[in-house]
Amino acid sequence: MATSRALQVRLPPLPSIKDIIRLYKLRALRELSQNFLMEPRLIDKIVRAAGNIENNIVCEVGPGPGGITRSIIQQAPRKVILIEKDRRFIPTLELLADACRGKVDVDIIPGDILKTNIAHYIPEDVKCEWNDPPPPINLIGNLPFSVSTILIIRWLEMISKKEGPWAFGRTRMTLTFQKEVAERMAARITDNQRCRLSVMCQNWCNVNYKFNIPGKAFLPKPEVDVGVVTLTPLKQPIINLPFKMVEKVARQIFSMRQKYSIRGCQTLFPEEIREEMALKMYKMAEIDPVTRPFQIANGEFNRLCEAYNEIIKQYPELEKYDYRAPKKKPDVNVEGSN
Ligand code: SAM
Repeated sequence: MATSRALQVRLPPLPSIKDIIRLYKLRALRELSQNFLMEPRLIDKIVRAAGNIENNIVCEVGPGPGGITRSIIQQAPRKVILIEKDRRFIPTLELLADACRGKVDVDIIPGDILKTNIAHYIPEDVKCEWNDPPPPINLIGNLPFSVSTILIIRWLEMISKKEGPWAFGRTRMTLTFQKEVAERMAARITDNQRCRLSVMCQNWCNVNYKFNIPGKAFLPKPEVDVGVVTLTPLKQPIINLPFKMVEKVARQIFSMRQKYSIRGCQTLFPEEIREEMALKMYKMAEIDPVTRPFQIANGEFNRLCEAYNEIIKQYPELEKYDYRAPKKKPDVNVEGSN
């Protein structure tokens, strides 16, 4: 026998999202990457991708006029936390909060997701141990393109430190990205799109590329299509080393995508010892130096990072070396110059 969802919150009749945009004169702002999702079928599909959210704490990033928010509320979460930078949307979100008063608790936080401490709004009683199944918390968002990559890198670092929403356990995320970014996040070994972001995302999370949304489903239509991705933090990262170290090794190795990976690896070290140290690192990791960056699997990256960590233990001063730092100008010999 098919089981129906125990709870479904019925919202009173509300103006459509199209009407809300028109009534409140909510012209989309390009600088805030505002592209509103207009198709209820696709909106529900994003929310369904998050799994069963009934009685959960759901934090939505960038709710805008509230299309996804309505769909979330209908699934009867315990609490919805809305973080929206553009204050023009606050009255429409308040309208929605009023419509479900007594059924779902809605916190509207006007502010920038990059400066908001989400954990502050999550009740303590949902806290789980890291190795437990994920806590009843979901982060959902049709993210603004302008912050999506910065945000996911920042969140991965928080996951690595079990901070913020990840102080409550392995909090799951259901997020949209530009299709190309979503493809990179999920790219496996030898995929064309495999890059630093693939290694970083897959090191701390199980990345699941769910489906695409065509640009034409948004108003205004963005130049690109959108990919919906779910991320569930892993119990153990593949590379169990500090975030900044993993990021540095992955960044340098992918810095010369089309060349042998050892060429990028060499840039982890100062010029005078570059070739010798990179070779040492590849020998320790038992990786063939002529492997291209996109051919290195996550487990092999682990061996390379571990080898780098060993070298750093032996020569701690090398850790500070940054290939991208501006080169020091040679001292000018005043006496000898014209
Ligand atoms: N959720 C709505 C939808 O799907 O139709 C709007 C999505 S729109 C792509 C991105 C939303 O994020 C906009 O409402 C925008 O104002 C908001 N936003 C942009 N930058 C933000 C930031 N740094 N922090 C919080 N919200 C932001």
